[in-house]
Amino acid sequence: MKAVAIYEHGGLDKMIYGDVPTPEPGPGDALVRIRAVGVNHFDHDIREGYSGIDHPKPHVLGVEGVGEVVAYGPGTSGPAIGTRVAINGVQACGVCVSCKSGFDGVCEQGILKGVTAPGCYAEFAISRADNLLPLPDALSFENAAASMICGGTAWHMVVTLGQVKAAEDVLVNAAGSGVGTFAVQIAALHGAHVIASAGSDEKLERAKGLGAQDVINYTTQDLAVEAVRLTGGRGPALVIESVGGDVLTKSLEAVPRRGRIITCGAHAGETVDLDVITLFRKHVTLQGSHYASRNEVSHVLRLVAEGALKPCIHSVMPLTDAAKAAALTANRQFFGKMVLVP
Ligand SMILES: [Zn+2]
Repeated sequence: MKAVAIYEHGGLDKMIYGDVPTPEPGPGDALVRIRAVGVNHFDHDIREGYSGIDHPKPHVLGVEGVGEVVAYGPGTSGPAIGTRVAINGVQACGVCVSCKSGFDGVCEQGILKGVTAPGCYAEFAISRADNLLPLPDALSFENAAASMICGGTAWHMVVTLGQVKAAEDVLVNAAGSGVGTFAVQIAALHGAHVIASAGSDEKLERAKGLGAQDVINYTTQDLAVEAVRLTGGRGPALVIESVGGDVLTKSLEAVPRRGRIITCGAHAGETVDLDVITLFRKHVTLQGSHYASRNEVSHVLRLVAEGALKPCIHSVMPLTDAAKAAALTANRQFFGKMVLVP
């Protein structure tokens, strides 16, 4: 089959479009014909080797794939052949302590499509049969691929971990990112006062269209000063963070007593000087967030199908253009998501 794989870590030139063996579903597995794949910044980290996660080479990239079930492994059943499905990014075991607690996004078995296991930048991909998420009929493959990880992650951060409340001040950093565009919409859907921050005025204009009432450009304005000013001197009770570096330290400065900061990324600085005194004196909760649970992803896909949430798709490209899509992601020259079609 055709796929985009890496044979060694490195730059964009390490993404090779070519033939790799079509995977064979084993016991418990399903084979899915991929119809659309979401492009994530995480793909870039995996290719470069920043993640520190090793995998056999060639390694097929792509953490977020949707398509149709075409076959099952020996003795395995699941949704009917031809069913339109999303492949859960975390291939959850269903039996570990995290899975049993409803946090299967942090399954202790830790099998992640496109990260520790071959991914979805391919014509076919394997999924555990019990990790197929059937797609609502009204949902296109492109919208599903653009929503499952970012929408699921945003829901996990804003609702499950962030416990958003109506009329609360919520600051969403990197509001032009895939997670950011969903976090703005989800916080607005819950009746929050949403402040979007980003590094460009153009992205902020678009964030307003998604439900942000106020905006901050953190390259030209002081994020903490503005966030406090826009909340009548209180500071945002909840911050949805994915930038790291100064943006994280400014967020800590901005939150009020008992403020909550939920973070899922650190592309602008993985190691941050944190003022622990501010953290404890203000009683701040700083919470990490990785993958959403299967239920959260399915819930978000249903809301997208119903039109309550809208994925922001920057562009849909053929899989052969995966390196071009990766270059746009790396340079941050995009709003929302890019989707590849094999
Ligand atoms: Zn598990």
